[in-house]
Amino acid sequence: MPNHPSDADPRRVLKTIFGFDRFRPLQEEIIQSILGGRDTLAIMPTGGGKSICFQIPALIFPRLTVVVSPLISLMKDQVDQLRGVGVPAVFLNSSLGPDAYRHTMAMIRSREARLLYIAPETLLKPSVLNILAEDPPDCLAIDEAHCISEWGHDFRPEYRRITEARERFPNAVCAGFTATATPRVRKDIKNSLGISGNAEFIGSFDRKNLFIRIAQRENALRQTLDFIARQPDSPGVIYCTTRQQVDDLCGALARNGHSVAPYHAGLNDGERTENQERFIRDDVRIVVATVAFGMGIDKPDIRFVLHLDLPKNIETYYQQIGRAGRDGLRSECLLLFSYGDIGKIKFFVRQKEGAERKVAFGHLDAMIDMAESDGCRREPLLAYFGEALSEPCGDMCDNCVSGNDAPVDLTVAAQKFLSCVKRSGEIFGAQHIIDVLRGSKSQKILQNQHDQLSTHGIGREHSSRQWFFLSRQFLRMGLMIQDERYGSLKLTEKAWRVFRAEEKVTGRLMAEKPERPPRPVPAAARGDLDFDAELFDRLRKLRKRLADDSGLPPYAVFPDRTLMEMSALYPVSDLALRGIHGVGEVKLVKYGPEFMTHIAAYCREKNIQPPDPPPESEYRPAPSPAAAFSSALSGSAASAIGGRHIQVGEAFNAGATIPELSARFGVLEKTIVAHLERYMAEPGVRLRVDGVREAAGLEPEREARIMAAFQTQGVELLKPVYEALGGREDYDTLRLGRLLFMNEVVSEPEFAGPRQ
Ligand code: ADP
Ligand code: ZN
Repeated sequence: MPNHPSDADPRRVLKTIFGFDRFRPLQEEIIQSILGGRDTLAIMPTGGGKSICFQIPALIFPRLTVVVSPLISLMKDQVDQLRGVGVPAVFLNSSLGPDAYRHTMAMIRSREARLLYIAPETLLKPSVLNILAEDPPDCLAIDEAHCISEWGHDFRPEYRRITEARERFPNAVCAGFTATATPRVRKDIKNSLGISGNAEFIGSFDRKNLFIRIAQRENALRQTLDFIARQPDSPGVIYCTTRQQVDDLCGALARNGHSVAPYHAGLNDGERTENQERFIRDDVRIVVATVAFGMGIDKPDIRFVLHLDLPKNIETYYQQIGRAGRDGLRSECLLLFSYGDIGKIKFFVRQKEGAERKVAFGHLDAMIDMAESDGCRREPLLAYFGEALSEPCGDMCDNCVSGNDAPVDLTVAAQKFLSCVKRSGEIFGAQHIIDVLRGSKSQKILQNQHDQLSTHGIGREHSSRQWFFLSRQFLRMGLMIQDERYGSLKLTEKAWRVFRAEEKVTGRLMAEKPERPPRPVPAAARGDLDFDAELFDRLRKLRKRLADDSGLPPYAVFPDRTLMEMSALYPVSDLALRGIHGVGEVKLVKYGPEFMTHIAAYCREKNIQPPDPPPESEYRPAPSPAAAFSSALSGSAASAIGGRHIQVGEAFNAGATIPELSARFGVLEKTIVAHLERYMAEPGVRLRVDGVREAAGLEPEREARIMAAFQTQGVELLKPVYEALGGREDYDTLRLGRLLFMNEVVSEPEFAGPRQ
């Protein structure tokens, strides 16, 4: 096996293996830097596409790439996805049993594995270092590199020791990746890993595909229901502050017919893992969670994030909304807050001491400013990361899209409000002032004789909500100050200039009615692509079935974008399918036939003429220009490019039955079984056991007898088995029995991969 696919340039690997046409910003530069042997630090936001930056070099370097990663769940997820595109990757961490461990080691020793994902403490075990030293790696990639810094929020002492591995493998190029790094942390990473300044890449933190909306919370449940009704069928996360809120909201959403699961620290580990897993596999649509949720989640198609409370700082907010739309498709973020939240958070902040308290207040103020700002939401968000926005986003935040309700003259409203503050003695909070302005006769007003004030009832033209929103603006404009503890309002010097009409006040008047939700957007449709929603829906169901059959999350079969393009372009040939986003060579073979069958059937049903002619013979694999490259990648999936038996085997494993396959390929069932036998002979493949069992239709005792016969007689020839069983089983049954038997014998899975 050649180790160095010489024709492998990064762009080609991007297309043939991952099925993507273009690099995202900085990816190519980072890959070139690593391939050029320069130690590199890459800082890109979540969803920026960091993984590919070390995965592509790993496929081009002759020797192993070691990927240090702190989270076991993410390791497995990435390894599963890599195997899905035919890349032999393995992982080592404390969760592996002895067999899987041995197998992984064998894959490394045989140079079959291209990438090894590993936990830092595992990497530093002398036994592991020694094995790696036999054939030193070409690249050491450090994921979540900020964990190395004591100044970071995620400091992991074991990360410090990665430097020992660096010393051990001085020829391996080192590449650090992170989504969060303040300048101090960045410097720390570079110092610890010995990365020089000129191989540092910092991507923009602007997540352009996230629509950001911030609104006041009036009726949390109603607003939540409205919001999720606008994203039908799409996965999403709802963040609450307390477990109680999580449980309550979960109950309410379930009663309203939504598919939801809770996630918080009050659940036991098993329940949490299960709920997370169900979410990843699209078995449950919405997770309602406390901040505990999200660390180990790599699901790229989260379409919305809803906050029911104000996060305590912008960084937390950014991280949480950042979990949406990693796949680059439009996703919705809504933050609902009430001024009560602010009081609550302030109460907690006040319990802190000295500097810590000051910092916390600073963070909170920045968050509040962002919530109340009437400019582009991205401005404060990016400013927090030290990034300047060159111009408002224009159409991806609430303020930009509602920009047409231009600022209005609020001078009269301000004069009314401020004079009411003055006349009531500057000892009352906003709500009381508003009650006076609106002419309330409440007990508190009467007791204070505020119904006698000249300002009583002079503000009926605005609702309480509007006045409240105005009062916040007056505060921000510095016309008043508010007592931190009691909330009472006092005028400033500037207020007097407004009274004397020396200064005009302009700002926004909140629309009287809460904004009407726009009409629902079809499932996940908010891309730039015009596609057939019905076909998309069907392909999603197909994807879900294929994913369940192989124990993978649906996005590991194909991302949403792929299904959208299929639903827009109706590809029914290998050639056409290759042109679709996310379809690399291995997935073309693995899933192409199923998807094309569905698309072709749909086109017939709807009388749609697919843009290219159907292939003359059924799904004959086109001579694959990438086959040469792929065969340079070792492992079973790469060898899967080729023969009909592979297609049959893959389709069978994807859920098709033998009679179905016989119909689809127009051959006898016997022939299908023969294909399956050949398929089994491919290195490392297995068959869907339940499918074989179903086809054989054997009762347990009968199956056991047949298995025992193969055990004693071997599998090469059927005749001795036939005879050992006294001729009671026919050859067709024995064929299937042999498949079952072989499947058991080779049941040591090729990889310690997904569950069976
Ligand atoms: P990060 O680790 O930076 O959060 P990932 O590496 O998980 O991001 O990538 C996020 C998503 O973007 C993944 O689903 C990945 O397949 C996809 N992706 C990465 N690079 C590209 C690209 N060049 N074109 C299209 N999709 C890409
Ligand atoms: Zn904007």
